[in-house]
Parts: sequence; structure tokens; C-alpha cells
Amino acid sequence: MRFCQPHWDELRQAIHKVGLDAWVPDSGEKAMAAMASQIEQGTTTIDNFDPLMGAHNAIAINMGEACRNNGDATLALFMIAEPICPLCLGNYMVSIPQSATNHQILADLEGKHLAGPFDEWIETAAQGQLDRWKNLAQ
Ligand SMILES: [Zn+2]
Repeated sequence: MRFCQPHWDELRQAIHKVGLDAWVPDSGEKAMAAMASQIEQGTTTIDNFDPLMGAHNAIAINMGEACRNNGDATLALFMIAEPICPLCLGNYMVSIPQSATNHQILADLEGKHLAGPFDEWIETAAQGQLDRWKNLAQ
């Protein structure tokens, strides 16, 4: 899943607020290298730590889990919502009409930003990355 620009900017700002700016790779290549290293080593270390992608992945995984817990139909929507921002999807789901089809939902959301209660996850995810960094830095 891919964050919309407003939610991505809010996530960057939240990482900045917890003081982890210096750990965010300064290029897409370095971010890819950090991710490759995490996969290769099977874990995150202080050398491949990327709080921005870490927070992004935590939100995407938690949204997948929330959709799964909500039932098969919601999980199916999550699975096909590849181009949709997970936070926009969550914010939309809290006010979704029962009759809406997955096709309608995706058409409503694609390329749009929707603020709502799930925006709180941004600060929680940034705080989670700070806790992670504290563990890694010991
Ligand atoms: Zn969004």
C-alpha cells in the first residue's frame, strides 16, 4: 500500500517530532538498501534502522490486521486496495455505507485524501519507532 501525500507528510513530521530525522535515509536508494539489509539479516539493527519506513510498515500491517478482524469482506477489500493509502482506507471504513461495493470504495478513494480517527496511528507509529530505536541503541 502506498500512503497518500498528506498522510506521508504527517508521518515524516511525526518522525521529526520524536527526534528520529537523522535515522531516515536521505535517498530512495539508501532506503532500499536499508530494507534489503533488514531482509538479508532477518532483523532490524541500528545500522539498517529506518524509522520512516518502519512506521509506514507498522501502520500498513496493523491496518491489514484490523481489516482481517473485521471479517472476510473487509480483508478482501484490503487485499485489492494496493493503490490506496491505508489510513485513508481506515478513515473511510468507519463511515462506509453497508451497501458499498469494493469497486465503489476503491473508486471513491483512489487519488484522494481522507482525514479521520485513524490519523492517530501516525503518532503512535512514530512513538513505536522511538521505542524501537531506544532498544537498538542500547
Ligand atoms: Zn491517506
